Amino acid sequence: MSNIKDFKEVGWNLDNSYARLPKTFFSLLQPTPVRSPNLVILNHSLAKSLGLNSDALESEDGLAILAGNEVPEGAEPLAQAYAGHQFENFTMLGDGRALLLGEQITPDGKRLDIQWKGSGRTPYSRGGDGRASLGPMLREYIISEAMHALGIPTNRSLAVVTTGEHVIRETNQPGAILTRVADSHLRVGTFQYASRGCPVEDLRDLADYALDRHFPDGMNGENRYLFLLQEVIKRQAELIAKWQLVGFIHGVMNTDNMAISGQSIDFGPCAFMNTYDPATVFSSIDVQGRYAYGNQPYIAGWNLARFAESLLPLLDEDKDKAVKLAQDEISRFTELFHSHWLKGMRAKLGLFNEEVEDEGLIEDLLSMMQKYRADYTNTFKALTFDTVKKTELFGTEEFTQWNERWQERLSRQEQSNDSSQDLMRRNNPAIIPRNHRVEEALEAAVSREDYSVMERLLDALSNPFEHSDKQTEYTEPPEPSSRPYRTFCGT
Ligand code: AMP
Ligand code: MG
Repeated sequence: MSNIKDFKEVGWNLDNSYARLPKTFFSLLQPTPVRSPNLVILNHSLAKSLGLNSDALESEDGLAILAGNEVPEGAEPLAQAYAGHQFENFTMLGDGRALLLGEQITPDGKRLDIQWKGSGRTPYSRGGDGRASLGPMLREYIISEAMHALGIPTNRSLAVVTTGEHVIRETNQPGAILTRVADSHLRVGTFQYASRGCPVEDLRDLADYALDRHFPDGMNGENRYLFLLQEVIKRQAELIAKWQLVGFIHGVMNTDNMAISGQSIDFGPCAFMNTYDPATVFSSIDVQGRYAYGNQPYIAGWNLARFAESLLPLLDEDKDKAVKLAQDEISRFTELFHSHWLKGMRAKLGLFNEEVEDEGLIEDLLSMMQKYRADYTNTFKALTFDTVKKTELFGTEEFTQWNERWQERLSRQEQSNDSSQDLMRRNNPAIIPRNHRVEEALEAAVSREDYSVMERLLDALSNPFEHSDKQTEYTEPPEPSSRPYRTFCGT
């Protein structure tokens, strides 16, 4: 068995640049030990890319670190301070149940945050217990890994351990800790925190840190903070377009859940849409539909406006000029998002070149899908493989006419039908983590300690563009139900 202190055997190569920021941004803190940790899932390929040895991670000593019972030598765990607009209400927050173990410097020189989620109370816990329950941690594991496989920027999941302790939610639940990996955990909310009550020097340090960490090229421009705003807007426009293209609904797009890096983070009550409907909401607490599928681009713009506001003191000494600069950038978000979305939709329909009518073609398809309650993923898949037979939508005259238009459009481009089909295959996933299959996997894991259902699901989700036989069983939408599916924040 390896020596606990010899973390090099696992491959930990940690730094903590965040701890060198002004003290207001964090609280140094050790995780609270847990009674009886047990590793229930480990991401071997991710471990490898981080330079970590899976066997050593699986050993008792490796596990002690994943459980927060031991801290590798040299690590300086900390809870990050941040703020956020939660459903439009501004609140001071912070890592209430997460700790940054440090930044792993990978063999290929990347710097990635390693964070425990569920590691105990912190100064930002407010009324919470600082803990997490097994179901939601496995859910985050499944969804984040599925997002990654779909080619969507996202934080990753390295491992889930059960703690041998119970957490009290609506019922007693097994406790768990998720170790997650992210480009960073800088949030729009981190900047909101810095801009309220911190000296402007602290805000500048934070902005410099973000530039250095995420946008090191080109930061010598005339106005580096304007550059930061522009780059974050660009990354978010690309990210949200990718969400929309696969039907992903985040569920809680509060400003504290939007990362400066452009990765998807904080998977709470998120889910993928089955039937196409822009009003789709899964989160039980989103009564107004603020974070509905069709609203996500608007909300992203709103959140970015909060980011821009936070940066105002850095954009220009003259407040009016700063506001003008910020507004000009924010107003570009919608257009940027739209161009990414349109490009992605063209690819989903096998279109290589651009024609003005394309948008109409796409919109008409979507409104038919909405009208006939067609499954979003399966409709595009049927178009890809020309299996447009079974559903109500495909039996309509409207669809026949649309299909003719689409076929004509395809024939107006140089590329062959085979190339179009290939493009569609690469852009229309065979499989998404459908809620009912995710729930089934969680139920088996949490109630029966049977992790095989989840492992099979993860395997099928690992290459969504493969279109292989093992994926077929996961492609069926749920039986129509009188009660809409709800996801809960009760994590
Ligand atoms: P989330 O909805 O997961 O983005 O969390 C919003 C805020 O609540 C963050 O500051 C979390 O750290 C905090 N929080 C969520 N659950 C807990 C918990 N069980 N104990 C302490 N803080 C929590
Ligand atoms: Mg959060």
